[in-house]
Amino acid sequence: MAKSVYLDHAATTPMRPEALEAMARVLSEDFGNPSGVHKRSRQARELLDDARDRFASVVGASPHEIVFTGCGTESLNLAMRGSAINSVAISAIEHDAVRETAAAMGRLGATVVEIPVDGEGVVDVGALDRDHGPVDLVAVMAVNNEVGTVQPIEEIGRRCALDGSLFLVDAVQALTWVDVRPIVEVADFTAFSAHKFGGPKGVGALVVRGGRVIEPLLYGGGQEQERRSGTQNVAGIVAMAIAAELTDRDRVVDTARISRLRDRLVDGLVAHVTGCVETVPRHVKVAGSAHVCIEGIASEELLVALDHADVCASAGSACASGALHVSPVLLAMGITKEQALGSLRLTLGTTTTDADIDAALAAIPLVVDRLRRS
Ligand code: PLP
Repeated sequence: MAKSVYLDHAATTPMRPEALEAMARVLSEDFGNPSGVHKRSRQARELLDDARDRFASVVGASPHEIVFTGCGTESLNLAMRGSAINSVAISAIEHDAVRETAAAMGRLGATVVEIPVDGEGVVDVGALDRDHGPVDLVAVMAVNNEVGTVQPIEEIGRRCALDGSLFLVDAVQALTWVDVRPIVEVADFTAFSAHKFGGPKGVGALVVRGGRVIEPLLYGGGQEQERRSGTQNVAGIVAMAIAAELTDRDRVVDTARISRLRDRLVDGLVAHVTGCVETVPRHVKVAGSAHVCIEGIASEELLVALDHADVCASAGSACASGALHVSPVLLAMGITKEQALGSLRLTLGTTTTDADIDAALAAIPLVVDRLRRS
């Protein structure tokens, strides 16, 4: 396959080589079922226990608070549907994994309210008390997947504690960019997904703070302390723990380097593409996120043309079908439909190089120009 410039790390990241190597080794050599009694099983269980300890240490939790799941979406569903709640407040910029789960709970009779965000995509904390009474559960993401805004999680956590609300944090986009320990500290539930930080797809985790009770979504053999039945994906979990450790170890250095690349990319686009504006100021967002709106350009056409030019980009949220819709996140921030339709999300990661930025800056202005002339 031709080498393309990959600027879609918020969608998924390439696996860290160390994680990939460990995963392959576990799959081929340590394939035992961790729930059994014989030697092979014991080996697998040791690997699972070790991975649990290591992942717990990275996120600042106790090992027994970790529930391994199949993905971020499952972790979020487990926290929301597994809590006995009648009312839920979600921010206006949540991922569909939270938004659609809340909608489903609403159809079953729960009260669902939306917490507004400001023009920079930051949750209006005051609205929690101002717009409605206390709710059973509040769900807010730590880092937005479209525009990259970092949310005031600790402040929201304090409010929830005062109100007696359970607090769920979607930290799926966070672990790469921020130390998640203070988040886990204030949340009752925190959701993670391995493929967003150099681990494999199909593995996630939910941190359930001590004493919080959840009803499982999956019943069966009682794995994960009766909270998620099903034989654990030992290889994937081992790889996730390694990826999390490496991410945590390298975060400060990686973030500084990637932030410099992101700044060069955005400055270059704003300078060389007429009508290109940065959607959110950089000081409110994570280092790897670049999001712009380009006047008079349709995202779908731009993405296809960029793909032909070997640049992998996104417009924000994509449905499973790959079809794009006007982003509710951008609309919630007060961006007009016309502007939102011209959005371009470029997300960088640990494998992004100066050469990638050079190639993107060479390709994007030309592609936009060509689209405008055609
Ligand atoms: N939450 C956020 C913020 C995300 O960006 C994603 C994935 O894009 C998810 C949840 C869902 O994670 P997963 O793909 O592991 O189900």
